[in-house]
Amino acid sequence: MTKNKPPSSAPAVDHGHDHEHVHALLPPEPALRVKALESILVEKGLVDPAALDAIIDFYESDIGPHIGAGLVARAWADDTFRAALLADADAVIDGLGHGGRQGEHVVVVENTPSVHNMVVCTLCSCYPWPLLGIPPAWYKSDAYRSRAVREPRAVLAEFGVTLPADTSIRVWDSTAEIRYLVLPMRPEGTAGMDAAELAPLVNRDAMIGTGLPLQPGDRP
Ligand code: FE
Repeated sequence: MTKNKPPSSAPAVDHGHDHEHVHALLPPEPALRVKALESILVEKGLVDPAALDAIIDFYESDIGPHIGAGLVARAWADDTFRAALLADADAVIDGLGHGGRQGEHVVVVENTPSVHNMVVCTLCSCYPWPLLGIPPAWYKSDAYRSRAVREPRAVLAEFGVTLPADTSIRVWDSTAEIRYLVLPMRPEGTAGMDAAELAPLVNRDAMIGTGLPLQPGDRP
């Protein structure tokens, strides 16, 4: 869009990375603007506040990390399910009725002893809402979005995760088209546990890749 380009007389500014220009187009106070927009829509009768409340309540109460945890636990307990989830997560998720907005195309990436996966959205805050609920504030922060890519190991350390030096870290940049879900490694000491017993060990951060699942006996 030409209107967003600086005047031709303006000096070219190198911000150091590609996303700065896009960020500069985002409103400085998005929450304020959303509130203003909501007020106008309600005032004009175009939006029903009760409907908005119902949508927010749905994502806060009904949708949450327990959905993703159920998938992970089942993948741990069932190799066929795990293979299907890794091969075509959309088909599995849709089949279970967990598809929906902000989760139209999901790719599941599997942690192994040699590769640890971590998810970020460098541009904004793309996130698999139908599987994990509302994203945490830190996921949307400038610091996480920039540092997850530049220095993932340092970021993980701040989350309390220290990986073996020979484990490589793969960072996945979510977009509006693709949302990633990390399939963490099944914790030690869980042999014989079924999916229902495993699910409480799977926390949100483990599925973003900024955390690890709990061990049996850990307090959530
Ligand atoms: Fe985004």
